Amino acid sequence: MSGTERPQLSLPNGANKLLLHSCCAPCSGEVMEALHASGIDYTIFFYNPNIHPQKEYLLRKEENIRFAEKHGVPFVDADYDTDNWFERAKGMEWEPERGVRCTMCFDMRFERTALYAWEHGFPVISSSLGISRWKNMQQINDCGERAAAPYQGMTYWDYNWRKKGGSARMIEISKRERFYQQEYCGCVYSLRDSNLHRKSQGRPLIRLGVVYYGDEES
Ligand code: SF4
Repeated sequence: MSGTERPQLSLPNGANKLLLHSCCAPCSGEVMEALHASGIDYTIFFYNPNIHPQKEYLLRKEENIRFAEKHGVPFVDADYDTDNWFERAKGMEWEPERGVRCTMCFDMRFERTALYAWEHGFPVISSSLGISRWKNMQQINDCGERAAAPYQGMTYWDYNWRKKGGSARMIEISKRERFYQQEYCGCVYSLRDSNLHRKSQGRPLIRLGVVYYGDEES
């Protein structure tokens, strides 16, 4: 384990439980272990209809379920309503990563997270999305706060999971668990753009279900 000790965490406003939106096992592994180490009661909410194709979606989801079961954490397997996602992405097909399509994508996932939280008595929501260094944390936090705002008393917890060694532990845990290592953000457009980039560099195209953390090339 990395040299930096995890800080003792507590939920905002003295809340007693958290609904954690999870995008995948590698991003949520450190978040889950940090919550566990601080004795925080939480449930995983897996809602990611952006992930394409379904084979990749199932790979990421099953990995996350396996890790949640290992820790005895409740796992909510929400809809894979891809039609809804594609409908909202119309006209944004060529937007770059971290642009308006991603704002839409975070909004959609967090809106559903907040609705579930409201209906099931979770006063706080958060997400594993922000731990990835590929993401714009401010963009994610803005979306999270927007999603929680309509619900009285609900807070989006904008804790920075990267700090105090979080990023390093994320990699360590992923290698320890031999998590599946996805090679693109998730949607069909990010898959296309990642492959275009690889092609321009003469690199092989993305292979689904092949690379795992801890493999020689990762
Ligand atoms: S690049 Fe990632 S965050 Fe952006 S729209 Fe695609 S899946 Fe969503």
